[in-house]
Amino acid sequence: MSGILHTSEQTLGRCMCIITGASKGFGRALAHLVLYNLKPGSGLLLVARSRPLLQELKEELLQSLEGMQNLTIDYTAVDLSTKEGVENIVDMAKQMSLKELDHVLLVNNAASLGDISPFESFTELNRVNAYLALNISSVLALTAGVLQAFPPRARLRWSVVNCSSTFALQARPSWVLYCTAKAAREMMFRVLAVENPKVKVLSYSPGPMDTEMQRDIQRLTGIQYHLHPCRESATKLMRVLLDNDFATGSHLDFFEL
Ligand code: NAP
Repeated sequence: MSGILHTSEQTLGRCMCIITGASKGFGRALAHLVLYNLKPGSGLLLVARSRPLLQELKEELLQSLEGMQNLTIDYTAVDLSTKEGVENIVDMAKQMSLKELDHVLLVNNAASLGDISPFESFTELNRVNAYLALNISSVLALTAGVLQAFPPRARLRWSVVNCSSTFALQARPSWVLYCTAKAAREMMFRVLAVENPKVKVLSYSPGPMDTEMQRDIQRLTGIQYHLHPCRESATKLMRVLLDNDFATGSHLDFFEL
């Protein structure tokens, strides 16, 4: 199965790419596509909690390369909702010691659905904070940490993808945690876009995909969407990243691409 999308001019470059939530679902599908669009000397850092799934993915990726390219693939099994987890990712990225990078790409994909419950049920501050720690705070702290570790400069392309949702823009009853987090992330990256023109920021809404999160949605709500394969959505995002003509700070939706 080829994931090669680029012509000779269109690649992600000599890139340090970090994908959170890479063990499953969309993040995993994206890792497979990213691999084929990196120039030799690039690095791919995979992040999630499940060590066995990350190890399995690393082996899959190495196997599909068949030793053809000089790429560094590594993973770190951490809980992103912790300070240690976020710091570990930044340290790992630095330790990969990649030379002469011309692109840093951070894909903030990891997220959780959280409780789907009426608004008035969220009286416990700790329960709310635990959700926000993963789905908002870690995204800000990680992006800030990677920006410090790989400072934007001339001739270094810098891209951040925020995996968003239609629920960043659309209020939905009983989805206060998910809607709030996705809306906050959207604004977080719009602020980064206006603050730092050297960083190109994209909020990508990947559409309804056949993943564990969707299985949870169906179990909890009984709603079954028409689901698309993760690879279809990941391919659309990869095309946008390769073309690189999106406006920084924009929100792009799977159904509009
Ligand atoms: P998923 O199947 O639930 O996968 C979530 C990923 O995040 C997994 O790799 C999971 O790995 C990781 N993760 C969860 N909690 C973590 C934590 N505390 N620390 C580190 N990693 C953690 O999700 P998905 O459906 O692929 O969704 C990907 C993104 O697209 C999310 O941002 C989601 O909100 C968004 N989205 C999805 C859909 C959809 O239809 N699926 C629609 C719109 C938007 P571990 O369990 O191994 O940690």
